[in-house]
Amino acid sequence: MTKSRRTFLNEAAQIAGALGLGRFAWNRFENQLNAESQTPPTHSINSVSTPTMVSTWNHGILANQAGLEAQSQGGNALDMIEAAARLVESDAEGLSVGIGGLPDRDGHVTLDACIMDHTGNAGSVCFVQGVEHPLSLARRVMEDTPHVMLSGAGAEQFARELDFPQINLLTPKAQKAWEKWRIESDYAPVINRENHDTIGLLALDHEGRLAGGCTTSGVAYKMHGRVGDSPIIGAGLFVDGRYGGATATGLGEAVMRTVGSFLVVELMRQGLSPQLACEEAVHRIMNSMPTEDLQVGYLAMDRDGAIGGHAIHSGFNYAHTIGDEAALIDATHG
Ligand code: ASP
Repeated sequence: MTKSRRTFLNEAAQIAGALGLGRFAWNRFENQLNAESQTPPTHSINSVSTPTMVSTWNHGILANQAGLEAQSQGGNALDMIEAAARLVESDAEGLSVGIGGLPDRDGHVTLDACIMDHTGNAGSVCFVQGVEHPLSLARRVMEDTPHVMLSGAGAEQFARELDFPQINLLTPKAQKAWEKWRIESDYAPVINRENHDTIGLLALDHEGRLAGGCTTSGVAYKMHGRVGDSPIIGAGLFVDGRYGGATATGLGEAVMRTVGSFLVVELMRQGLSPQLACEEAVHRIMNSMPTEDLQVGYLAMDRDGAIGGHAIHSGFNYAHTIGDEAALIDATHG
């Protein structure tokens, strides 16, 4: 009869003790055994897939279109994410992403963004001012530096070194809204039930590679220096090409406290569908804090392109595009 792994390790530990092997030597032996027994990560990709994108909120429709367009011109999943994000970041009418985003309580527009590929490469920038395309900057952090995350002045310096255009992100429309807010200065993050907010994006390219991105100006009228979930790998975004990807929108503090996007992907790794994984991650928040006044929505896609989305409250929607077909879907909630 074959010995179980645990029995074998227990017996080996006793022998090690009898031989006087120190704890350090024993730990090294056990670590090596564990490493050898694990299935090596393959990050394998499907040979052929229909390019698919899923993105948060109404602006996801046009974003997905830009992403699919990038793919048809030879781009991969990362290019799809970047093209989609850039479109929304450049929309001065949107009050929650890139130029036109609502400022913090001191009147500064500060941006957060991140990107991740199917092999676990990740890049992120946070608390960045004056940069129109923070997600592109996050991609350069991922591809051109040994780091995952740059913040504030350091990220801005990196943008200047790369000759990223410097722009004033505060539009007259956003300034007017801030000036109106300043009269009361009542800071209570309002739950985002309206149909525009952070854009979280997931893409599957024609070779089955998954990638994800997230870009935002964060919660309006936040404290200067506040960073939300969106640029935090594992909170606002997580991708593991072997299982799937997830992204979040809503009150970042609740997502960060529960490491939401990582949780969704971990649940998919354990066998849950994207939909059930999003539901469980939302319930994790609902079971751990009062949620009457806060909204969080999760969006997920697995490595085969199946998707799911769920939020605490009604109002969260997302855009799903497969090839030429696009749909705006109201997420389930509660
Ligand atoms: N999650 C973003 C943040 O907390 C904001 C949002 O999605 O509305 O910064």
